Amino acid sequence: MSLKNLPYSTRLYCPGPTPIPMDIAKASMQPTVYHRTPEFQATLIECRKLLQPLIGSKKPPVLIASSGTGAMEAAVATFTAPGDKVVFVNGGKFGERWGEINKVYNNQLVEIKIPWGEAIQPELLAETLEKEKPDALFLQANETSTGVAVDLMKLMKEIRPSFQGIVCVDAISSLVAHPMKMSEWDIDIVVGGSQKGFGVPPGLSFAAFSEKAYARANRRDSYYFDIIREYEGQESGVSAWTPAVSLIFAMNEALKKIHEIGLEKLFELHRIAANSVREGARAAGLDLLAERDYSHALTSIRLPPSIDGNALKSHLQKKYGCLFAGGQGMLSGKILRFSHLGFFDLLDVVSGLSALEFALQDLGWEFSFGAATVTGMKTIQSLSASN
Ligand SMILES: *Cc1c(COP(=O)(O)O)cnc(C)c1O
Repeated sequence: MSLKNLPYSTRLYCPGPTPIPMDIAKASMQPTVYHRTPEFQATLIECRKLLQPLIGSKKPPVLIASSGTGAMEAAVATFTAPGDKVVFVNGGKFGERWGEINKVYNNQLVEIKIPWGEAIQPELLAETLEKEKPDALFLQANETSTGVAVDLMKLMKEIRPSFQGIVCVDAISSLVAHPMKMSEWDIDIVVGGSQKGFGVPPGLSFAAFSEKAYARANRRDSYYFDIIREYEGQESGVSAWTPAVSLIFAMNEALKKIHEIGLEKLFELHRIAANSVREGARAAGLDLLAERDYSHALTSIRLPPSIDGNALKSHLQKKYGCLFAGGQGMLSGKILRFSHLGFFDLLDVVSGLSALEFALQDLGWEFSFGAATVTGMKTIQSLSASN
């Protein structure tokens, strides 16, 4: 008897796209409206206002019709000028992307390369910034290719006394799972996307910016990706181009759900979920890629040489209907990424651990069958006890 015996039993454990609750899917399916109407303009303004507390920005973000990478490019296009010196942190696939985008825009690059699976150390970053004196710094809040999160509050405290340049954070996979206090932490630009923590289909991104970033904006020509032009229009609900109307409906619904549940509760849920996955994986005799600085959005489980990550991933999908993510770039085949970004609950995490155990056993890994699931459950129980 296959465990994946029903056509609807696909489960997503990949870090985006994440499961879309029915209410959110329904919101995106309502008949499209013309975007230059007072009704839609009010929806767009509402969406931006509901997003703002998740980012902790002084102003509501602008919405952009693109995937997350579009918002990253918009940030580079709007807030840097050719020849600007930029430092970027490369601790994985997405850090690398900051470098690639900045290169296309003819910025002068300074790369801080750190081993995949580690977080940038605040002291090292501060030292580099003092030495290089760049115009801007680009980094990830959460490096999705490795499952490493940065303690942004600590990092900003360390670098801010001596660094006055622009700090731009890709928070695409950390929003909703980790707190973000952009203005309090003195971050200048934060970008996010719909298909990660928000449980909304892909194709909507957003960016918030500070006064300092504003003062340094639009020193080069860019057309579609002009965050300031968008901001000026979107303050009254008018976007320069046709907005992603159905995704904005979906995003509004998602944000209402998120606020109804409460941000603190969601951060706690993600923290418990991540702990449960880590302890579960260890109980199955597996190591983790990161040894500290754990993301609360996903965990990278290191696989032993006898188990090919890509084979495990496709086995999990084919036999158990569970879509996990494998490793990217140099980590291909070496890790399995177990994500619970978005609308997950703790029982979904337990199911994921169970599926992993079934699959590991099928592939011949020797371990105490059932240990990961039970350990995951016990971790949830002990961490939830105080609530
Ligand atoms: C998913 C992701 C992106 C953007 O990806 P898109 O596919 O363009 O939406 C960027 N940065 C991080 C950290 C991500 O997780």
